[in-house]
Amino acid sequence: MTDARAPYVPPGTGWPDDPAAPDTPVAHGAGEVIELAAGAPDLAELCARQSVCRACDRLVAWREKVAVERRRAFAAEEYWGRPIPGWGDPEPRVLIVGLAPAAHGGNRTGRIFTGDRSGDWLFASLHRVGLAAQATSVHAGDGQRLIGARMAATVRCAPPDNKPTPLERTTCLPWLAREVEDVARSVRCIVCLGGFAWQGVWPALKQAGYDVPRPRPKFGHGAEVELAPPPSAARRDPVLLLGCYHPSQQNTFTGRVTEDMLDAVFVRARDYD
Ligand code: SF4
Repeated sequence: MTDARAPYVPPGTGWPDDPAAPDTPVAHGAGEVIELAAGAPDLAELCARQSVCRACDRLVAWREKVAVERRRAFAAEEYWGRPIPGWGDPEPRVLIVGLAPAAHGGNRTGRIFTGDRSGDWLFASLHRVGLAAQATSVHAGDGQRLIGARMAATVRCAPPDNKPTPLERTTCLPWLAREVEDVARSVRCIVCLGGFAWQGVWPALKQAGYDVPRPRPKFGHGAEVELAPPPSAARRDPVLLLGCYHPSQQNTFTGRVTEDMLDAVFVRARDYD
């Protein structure tokens, strides 16, 4: 498709589920992220614009460096090397929010939570409770499909050490805020995977028009907050914000997160109405 050591997949060159085209507008700074997120005519174009963003110099350099150097196990693969757009049902009942893609996970496969051990746990659980069509998610275009669910991240590019800076979080925020706003008509539950996603989602909820409590409630596994929906929502009854421990290798190896714990959160999210 492209050069064996290209730093990213050029938009519109045949990568499965690539939302962008060669003429999709590219944000080169924080101001352009605000402008392009606000001006996207619909969710599909918003995701296309997310997927070509170049606003954060450090993260662009990192994601492309990783895509060229590659991990030995994936040396023969082409890496996506671009921001990971929102993915899933355009009118979801459940919105799942994570912190950021992994360098050799989403940054390689082009799909959020896909291609690493955390994703293996996550998709297996989503499949068990009926929110995903398959038990595995290995690569964009593998036939996986979310059922009444959608996934997004607070930061769309893989950060070094999985740690985006405060400025990078702020710069990326308009992409999530606009996505949260666009799906507010249908969303009944928002699941935050991990404490960093929990922290990162509050400003996006506020920008999207949700009535956000002060002080902000604490994160925990199974923590619940009912939020008054924004004016753009079709219903006036509350939306549930739900905390879930991240299914990281550390958490799953140590038993801090078990399959039953994940399933319980996603059953609660699926059934909340
Ligand atoms: S982290 Fe967000 S704002 Fe920064 S370059 Fe990636 S997509 Fe753009």
